[in-house]
Amino acid sequence: MTQTQPARLMEGTHLARRIIGTGAAAADRLRQRTGTAPCLATVLVGDDPASVTYVRMKRARCEQAGIRSRHVALPASVSTGGLVETITALSEDPDVHGILLQHPVGPHIDERAAFEAIAPEKDVDGVTTHSFAAMAFGLPGFVSCTPGGIMRLLDAYGVGLSGKHAVVVGRSAILGKPAGMLLLGRDATVTYCHSRTTGLSGLVREADVLIAAVGRPRFIEGAAIKPGAVVIDAGYNPGNVGDVDFESARERASLITPVPGGVGPMTIAVLLAQTVEAAERQLAAG
Ligand code: NAP
Repeated sequence: MTQTQPARLMEGTHLARRIIGTGAAAADRLRQRTGTAPCLATVLVGDDPASVTYVRMKRARCEQAGIRSRHVALPASVSTGGLVETITALSEDPDVHGILLQHPVGPHIDERAAFEAIAPEKDVDGVTTHSFAAMAFGLPGFVSCTPGGIMRLLDAYGVGLSGKHAVVVGRSAILGKPAGMLLLGRDATVTYCHSRTTGLSGLVREADVLIAAVGRPRFIEGAAIKPGAVVIDAGYNPGNVGDVDFESARERASLITPVPGGVGPMTIAVLLAQTVEAAERQLAAG
């Protein structure tokens, strides 16, 4: 059974632009009121081309939105201790309101220790255990940006979540796991799938809301999707290809994110929005 109409697109590009516009206006008001613009510190270890590009994009978007960025580039050879020291200094610097550690940081570094050096009030990328716990308990705090962006997309397109079966394929700490927790917090019934899951396509077929966060090009085919499902493709693989086979999935889903232009732009938008919010809170606290 297929849909009579192909799925409507969930346009992250447009929504992200609106969120960044709202953030820029708030950053400007804050600067006028306090004389200080929000500041995001970006920390990059080594010179992996993809990481360099991601950080450059994030900084450029910040500057367009009136958010200052302070960039710290460290050699690939930096030790865990050296990286922790750098991040601790940024955590203690009152002129920095948000901290982004671009990952991966290299196999010789204890990435978790580096993330934990980020002060919770500056954890605008939502990577610390403090932020994850707050999110899981439904307490205030910053969420991991890509899952946060997914929730904003679902809300913007009026997708009801209560009682819906959400299937999340992928369980990484930055994407799949927090996405499932946020969906659970909105009363969805959540199933996680991962590399050891058996009967994956049967589980995917039960999804009212499907989140694909696998990192494998066109891993989920249209035939595996329940007619009328909402499909969020967080995957971003070489050649601008998602984790869902877009053409066949579009014939089955009611709503679907394109790749590119779906989830991707939302990640940066949430990062910027959370940086402005962090600055507002820190400057209000004096
Ligand atoms: P990751 O850390 O590599 O995690 C991939 C997850 O997929 C793991 O949980 C893994 O299971 C699961 N998996 C791998 N092969 C599988 C299989 N055959 N069947 C079922 N599950 C399988 O990747 P990630 O960082 O979460 O990223 C996932 C995708 O999202 C990538 O394409 C990435 O580029 C994209 N992404 C996009 C954004 C954005 O801003 N748009 C941000 C972050 C990531 P195990 O846990 O069992 O290994």
